[in-house]
Amino acid sequence: MDIVLEVCDYYFLDKVYATVLPKGGYVDNLIQTTPLLTTLSNFKLSNVFKTPLLESFVSTNNSFVQDAINFNTTSINTSNLPTYLLNKALNFQNKQDVYGLAPKFLPASEYISSSILARSNIFREALSILVVTTIFGWLLYFIVAYLSYLFVFDRKIFNHPRYLKNQMALEIHQAATAIPVMVALTNPFFLLELNGYSSLYMDINECTGGWKAVLFQIPTFILFTDCLIYFIHRWLHWPSIYKRLHKPHHKWIVCTPFASHAFHPVDGWAQSLPYHIYPFLFPLHKVLYLFLFTFVNFWTVMIHDGNYMSNDPVVNGTACHTIHHLYFNYNYGQFTTLWDRIGRSYRRPDDSLFVKDEKPEEIKKEWKKQVCQMEEIRNELEGKVDDRVYVDQ
Ligand SMILES: [Zn+2]
Ligand SMILES: [Zn+2]
Repeated sequence: MDIVLEVCDYYFLDKVYATVLPKGGYVDNLIQTTPLLTTLSNFKLSNVFKTPLLESFVSTNNSFVQDAINFNTTSINTSNLPTYLLNKALNFQNKQDVYGLAPKFLPASEYISSSILARSNIFREALSILVVTTIFGWLLYFIVAYLSYLFVFDRKIFNHPRYLKNQMALEIHQAATAIPVMVALTNPFFLLELNGYSSLYMDINECTGGWKAVLFQIPTFILFTDCLIYFIHRWLHWPSIYKRLHKPHHKWIVCTPFASHAFHPVDGWAQSLPYHIYPFLFPLHKVLYLFLFTFVNFWTVMIHDGNYMSNDPVVNGTACHTIHHLYFNYNYGQFTTLWDRIGRSYRRPDDSLFVKDEKPEEIKKEWKKQVCQMEEIRNELEGKVDDRVYVDQ
């Protein structure tokens, strides 16, 4: 995220902040004369210990701090817990990797010091991430889904008896409104990354394991996230959670590529958690992380595009995810069928999905069969009342 943010700061955000909140401007004067605003404007995660309140707390509770550093179970009590946690947090911080203290990838821009909000200010970071990542998320969603719609998507599905009235517009509305909320919920992870708390790194050398380590990170990232998404997705299918969070994504019995990000925002966020947890647990190259983040978004669109290219027994492709939308309780995986096989929720996609140039009568017969099976499972999961409005009603 620091690469993206530095590029944005260099090319336009430094100028935007310098124009909207310049040094010496009205807001600057207001901050200088209001102590609370002065403290807030200087707030950085790395400066937590430097706040006067905490400094006095640490000096008067020095023995507690020492106990906390030399951790043992008896040294923890409610009075020294905050200091202990802060100490631990600062120990985890890589101070070389705190964003905004000095430019790393590009030269300093003309406006780098012209705003009252420095690049390293946590509120500026949060706002910039919210705006930049939302726009990036929208662009990625619309461009990839639209290209898939134009060149890959099988439009036969428009005639499926369980295609909804105005479905594509509904999918786009759900996704476009969910993306900013998902980004806001993910913001704490990005802020921790920018303040040096992750294991993301840039230099490829002997110390970081060289190119071998970078290549190794691709399968480990995919396998780690595949496993966690499986369990999160199964949890989302618990009846009480399903009704509250996951049902909006299952509104689409048959999908278009625009269904890919059409979630309840908390559902979409929950399923994206493994992608953000990984770099806090394992070393990951920063550029590879951006590539993998883009790839998972591509993948999400691909498994909703209705183009059944592969019937691979290992890869959880489009056909597998189509089965998930049709029959709900199968194929919860994201990239592979591994955890569905272990968890006994794997269902092999129907052979009929792969028949090319099927006659219209046969397609209709097949769809009728799908609807019969689907209705039975849907009734069990959602109850007898179906609030969807289908196109052929
Ligand atoms: Zn589901
Ligand atoms: Zn889906």
